[in-house]
Amino acid sequence: MAFIKRSERKSRKPPEFEDLTTPEDLIALAEKKGLETNPVSVSELASELGISVRFEPMPDDDSGSLKKERKTGNWIMTVNSLHHPHRQRFTIAHEIAHRIRHAANSDSFEDKTFFRNGESNWMEAEANQFAAALLMPEKYFNYFIENESSTVEDVAKYFQVSSMAVRIRAKNLGYEGHNL
Ligand SMILES: [Zn+2]
Repeated sequence: MAFIKRSERKSRKPPEFEDLTTPEDLIALAEKKGLETNPVSVSELASELGISVRFEPMPDDDSGSLKKERKTGNWIMTVNSLHHPHRQRFTIAHEIAHRIRHAANSDSFEDKTFFRNGESNWMEAEANQFAAALLMPEKYFNYFIENESSTVEDVAKYFQVSSMAVRIRAKNLGYEGHNL
């Protein structure tokens, strides 16, 4: 039994996502909070994580960014408002990954078009993997392909992602063939 001075307790900083490190952890959080999980609402998840999401028109090459505000310490995500909603979902999931996994390494992330030239650094590669797993959890992905449809278009429509994202996810999960 130990007593804690009120002032000490008050000054203790809350843990920063200590138990939220994987896409599975985030799905579990969404379920716990009653957020949409089928497919997962990445906007709601971002809010739940304390990230402000803004939509702004940007050049087509820019997907979005995630930055920590100097003054307030708040994290601001900006998403290209001119992109298709399915692309925006991937951007949001990708920026969530940066917040969860890379915030100790950098407080500013700027993202161009995904998947174009391979990934330049480990954080970008990891954020893409994370985003794909968050948007298309393996068990749901497998289930849909085995029981509903295995065409790229149907899978993309169901998970509300681009067909490029579906193709890459399928390849990473070991699928091959005419459609997937
Ligand atoms: Zn990135």
